Amino acid sequence: MTNKTHFSIAVFPGDGIGQEIMKPCVTLLEAAMARVGGVSASFEELPAGAAHFRDTGESLPEASLKRADEADAILLGAMGLPDVRYPDGTEISPQIDFRFRFGLYAGVRPVRTIAGLQPMLNNPSAHELDFVIVRESTEGLFASHGRGEIKGDEEARDTLVITRDVSQRLFDFTLALGQSRQAQGGKGRVTCVDKANVFKSFAFFRKIFDERAEAHPQLDCDHMYVDAAALNMVTRPWDLDVMVTENMFGDILSDLGAGLIGGMGYAPSADIGDDHAVFQPCHGSAPDIAGKGLANPTAMVLSGVMMLEWLGEKHDCEPALKAGKLLRGAVDAAFATGTLVTCELGGDAGTTAVFEAVMAQLVELP
Ligand code: ATP
Ligand code: MG
Repeated sequence: MTNKTHFSIAVFPGDGIGQEIMKPCVTLLEAAMARVGGVSASFEELPAGAAHFRDTGESLPEASLKRADEADAILLGAMGLPDVRYPDGTEISPQIDFRFRFGLYAGVRPVRTIAGLQPMLNNPSAHELDFVIVRESTEGLFASHGRGEIKGDEEARDTLVITRDVSQRLFDFTLALGQSRQAQGGKGRVTCVDKANVFKSFAFFRKIFDERAEAHPQLDCDHMYVDAAALNMVTRPWDLDVMVTENMFGDILSDLGAGLIGGMGYAPSADIGDDHAVFQPCHGSAPDIAGKGLANPTAMVLSGVMMLEWLGEKHDCEPALKAGKLLRGAVDAAFATGTLVTCELGGDAGTTAVFEAVMAQLVELP
């Protein structure tokens, strides 16, 4: 562990609303660090994405990849545009390339209530939600990314891959997360979400989970089939703590989680590997609302908070942890009164309104 106080951040705004939500995020991160003091960062904006591919024929330039490799962390907006594709028809998704290239196996996707929001699905008992989905992000069904086959016009196949090496690292990471949440008053529950009753690959996944869980007797480790997990996320989400699952299942369940707390614009994520990490919202480039000033920057800002926390822990930098806590507090305070209502929840607060409300809290908070 190195004791670092200045960090270099590779910034990829990307496509669509990624271009709109990145600037508010970087400005708020800088303001939070300046308020706390003792920590700073340089942000270097780099090109990649579908628009860049359209203009240059390259989706992730080697020079961008190199700068990302050298940086302390990577901040990403969103990438991909529906009408810009590779010649084989697949989507342009350098964010997925990062996961494979840097071995970012743990996709951490918190589902946490922000008080004051009125999600579409009412939570009648007013329980606060605070759980995390860890989505394996380098194999599973996504291992087939760009490799599936179509035979004639009659049959198509994709392959789901589970390896012991990645699964062990994924479970060890997740169990450590469960333990650290337990130390901060969490439930100490870690649930492996699979479909072990039908697929050999998932039976293998579950077996490795059970093996790794043995080293954590203080945690309550259990299993759930993915269909039951979907039901439980809607009926008793307050009982959940840490869930760990395969790539495709995690992709789907984390969107469900985002819906529970108010929508995609509130759902942050981190893709973490042994040496690198990418912080980006769960959502995509949202071409339907791009260029209109409607994008909610909250998920991007909370992804930035996760970055400060990860840097703070990795480099033993207390001020980075403090700046993260301050910025999360500012987001919470901005929404707490219930008067800041974003477009996705039927209000008229767009990107600038949310940014200004969070900035005002950041300046005022003790
Ligand atoms: P991906 O393939 O990258 O997951 P997607 O096709 O699932 O992307 P998103 O871009 O995530 O689509 O958008 C899904 C829906 O959520 C869209 O209707 C979009 O308008 C809405 N949405 C996404 N992000 C935001 C945001 N930050 N603020 C408001 N609405 C958003
Ligand atoms: Mg999606």
